[in-house]
Amino acid sequence: MSKPKISKVKQKEIAKERINTLFNQAKDIFSENRSLSDRYVFLARKIAMKSKVRIPKEFKLRFCKHCYKYLMPGNNCRIRKQPGKIIISCLECKKFMRIPVLKKRKVISKNKTQKKKIKKSSK
Ligand SMILES: [Zn+2]
Repeated sequence: MSKPKISKVKQKEIAKERINTLFNQAKDIFSENRSLSDRYVFLARKIAMKSKVRIPKEFKLRFCKHCYKYLMPGNNCRIRKQPGKIIISCLECKKFMRIPVLKKRKVISKNKTQKKKIKKSSK
């Protein structure tokens, strides 16, 4: 029995793919079987921890960081906006997560380019 010889870079790529598919499947199966989508989140987290891959931000908001249950807006979580942050409250464990909005890079970069354009035109 020898260990499979796969480079660490490839291992991480495979792990990322698996996390992606697991979250997509969790989303699809949520309406039919909630416990199974929770199980997919558990597996995705386990893969991420084992391969030291970060779970992408879009997926990090899709499960509760306290009870690790898959969250579907309108079913088992409540999303509220507040200036500078979004609050996601989990209805399964009745705890909430605060997500700062300013960290979104796409929004900032868009604003910067717009500001530059405005400055040039004013000069
Ligand atoms: Zn929870």
